[in-house]
Amino acid sequence: MHRTISPKVFRGHIFHIAGAPTVAEARSQLVSVPDGALVTDIDGTIAWVGPFSELPADFAALSVTRAGFILPGFVDTHIHFPQTYTTDSYGGGQLLEWLDECVFPAESRLEDPGFARQVARDFTRRRASVGTTSALVFGSAFAPAQDALFEETQAAGLRLVSGRGIQTVGTDSARALLTSEQTALELTASEIDRWHAVDTDNAQTALLQVAIVPRFSLSVTPTTLAGLGELYDSVRGRGVYFHSHLNENDRPSTGEIDAVRSAYGTENYLDTYDGCFLPRSARGGSSLLGPRSILAHAVHCQDSELARLADTGTSIAHCPTSQAFLGSGTMPWRRTTAFGVNVAIGTDVGGGDEWLVARVLNDCYKAHLSEPGDAGVALDPAALLFTGTLAGARALDMEARFGNFDLGKDADLLLIDPDRWEPLALVLANAVRADDAALAAEQTLFALLLALRESAITGVYVRGRRVSVE
Ligand SMILES: [Zn+2]
Repeated sequence: MHRTISPKVFRGHIFHIAGAPTVAEARSQLVSVPDGALVTDIDGTIAWVGPFSELPADFAALSVTRAGFILPGFVDTHIHFPQTYTTDSYGGGQLLEWLDECVFPAESRLEDPGFARQVARDFTRRRASVGTTSALVFGSAFAPAQDALFEETQAAGLRLVSGRGIQTVGTDSARALLTSEQTALELTASEIDRWHAVDTDNAQTALLQVAIVPRFSLSVTPTTLAGLGELYDSVRGRGVYFHSHLNENDRPSTGEIDAVRSAYGTENYLDTYDGCFLPRSARGGSSLLGPRSILAHAVHCQDSELARLADTGTSIAHCPTSQAFLGSGTMPWRRTTAFGVNVAIGTDVGGGDEWLVARVLNDCYKAHLSEPGDAGVALDPAALLFTGTLAGARALDMEARFGNFDLGKDADLLLIDPDRWEPLALVLANAVRADDAALAAEQTLFALLLALRESAITGVYVRGRRVSVE
């Protein structure tokens, strides 16, 4: 099924979160092997991990690739392909105005297939450069643009879950992105048939998968949501995903959340995705929630919404960089995770202006330490690494395949050379470290995650195979 590769040894300081912990348990599952070895098998899975000095004789003859550090590949659970060039957008302000003034016009340009191909190439190269081995990608409205995204991703050898952005209602500036209700369903079903798990014919092993992606409740209608619920019922068993936005902007009366409430008359925003999109949250169709459903932001959730996310196994794509840029507020970390909801990281390019997941984890640390009063929390480095890797694999329901270096998983990994980014090299070379070895390892991981830049990522591997993008 997979092409075979030459087994090899990667040697460097290995960090990963072993097993399947919750975020609160991540710290106890942090593995640090200062002079470590990771061995990949012919099928790209992980055959052995441990101290290089204990490398079994069976592997002694394999070629060795050296690096300063070896991390699991980053998982970005929310990023917008048609906003590849939109990280600089001035003139919008907060969410709804930014969409109208900046994003809808920019996304409309992908109607030109030649331009869309260029965006797909640049998007794929950018995500590869920052070590995003797996991504849940909010797609373009235009089918040829989505085909270009899947083709470029496949050529590069990266993981992708994506679906065209569905809009059936909208403002004038979104006109090019809108389709009829019927066309929206047809285009989405066609994308699923063309691309879902096409590379292996098995959603458990495929690198390429498809999601049903309404932009948000305001870009569709109860009729669209009913149709998408029916469609999702018919493809859930094939491992298709659902992805959208939730509770991002709570500006009173004119913001997103109040607009959803007034458009639908539901008791909360989540109900619109849960099949209860009729007035007073009466049921109008099937739920879109579940273990392959991921909702971005969830900054301003009611308790009942967080409980429902946890109950259904729906994950949150947390995007602190974007939330700062659009003035959306801060997702309450303690309260959200206390409900047991899985929280993974998302760059939300172009609402977020950082492609590198570690830069978003840096913002994540600052945002939650700055939450008011008892809500403030200094996230430990293992929790940050977990959120940028294993939690993402869990959000994508692919934790059994990647997200850490447990034996038998696919070798999705990053090689890092601190000498390629002087500020990182300097803090590591001149660090003051605790006498306690476990704390010292956490301090080194913290330095690595917070000071990491794209130039220090020197190798990106998916399933043991080096990712190469022109
Ligand atoms: Zn977004």
